[in-house]
Amino acid sequence: MSIEIRQVSKYYGQQAALKDVSFGVKRGEVVGFLGPNGAGKSTMMKIITCYIPPSEGEVKVAGLDHFNDSLKLRRKVGYLPENNPLYPEMYIREYLRFVAGIYGIPKAKQRVEEIIETVGLELESHKQIGALSKGYRQRVGLAQALIHDPEVLVLDEPTSGLDPNQLEDIRALIKRIGKEKTVLLSTHIMQEVEAICNRAIIIKRGQIVADSPVSELKSARGKIVFHLQVDKPLSLSKLEKIEGVLKVVETQKCRYKITSGKAIGPDLTAFVAREACTIEELRREEMTLEDVFKSLTQ
Ligand code: ADP
Ligand code: MG
Repeated sequence: MSIEIRQVSKYYGQQAALKDVSFGVKRGEVVGFLGPNGAGKSTMMKIITCYIPPSEGEVKVAGLDHFNDSLKLRRKVGYLPENNPLYPEMYIREYLRFVAGIYGIPKAKQRVEEIIETVGLELESHKQIGALSKGYRQRVGLAQALIHDPEVLVLDEPTSGLDPNQLEDIRALIKRIGKEKTVLLSTHIMQEVEAICNRAIIIKRGQIVADSPVSELKSARGKIVFHLQVDKPLSLSKLEKIEGVLKVVETQKCRYKITSGKAIGPDLTAFVAREACTIEELRREEMTLEDVFKSLTQ
């Protein structure tokens, strides 16, 4: 495990920002940490990166304990904080050498050149940070997070405020970096998770409400809607009695919209056959991740 979070709670005075949160991230996974504003994403990330301590619970990163091995732990984590705080008056190389110095990286000059190449900053590398576009500032932020070659990368809303082109570039870059590192990335954009992540953790008011592979999130959560068209009318009350069915609406003659709590495709087929009808169409409505997110966080 690259990240192990056990029963972590965090209180700001009376307010609980995280309540009994547990999850693990395996080496090499790219996990999306999703939730509406104020859900506790940044708080969790600050705890993982040792910026703040949890009020309760255990945190381990790269096998190192948050309390006992805090300094070693920080060497294993790269962190791009929310809003990417940078020094606008510094030049890119000057800033990255400064960060390399903090980490005590040997051959810092060479490493800075390598990282400039990794994040695609070559053409802008002579500029002052304040003169860069937001997309390029984000690359500088990623460069500082990666310079010490950490095992784990924690990115807090890395694409917020970018225009569509910059967004695509930064997502592609994160995807590329994600092949070699464990990444935990927060966002409130569902498409981002589909584009970059293997797994999604959804958090709401400080508690985890979903944790599953992105591919399963759509089907595992919430309701499934089927559209069924047959050659002869079916009895609505009989359809409603099929196990798992929550609601049936006859949308047109011999067309039914069936909402269920689980996958009932085979049961529907069998039912129609028992009623001596023929299926003309049976289709499962794709739930978007947005729907899942809404149903879980509202
Ligand atoms: P997110 O990143 O998901 O938007 P945060 O982790 O920033 O959420 O915040 C979670 C909750 O904790 C919010 O209600 C926020 O107002 C509160 N909070 C965050 N930081 C502090 C702080 N330093 N002092 C008091 N409350 C805070
Ligand atoms: Mg935040």
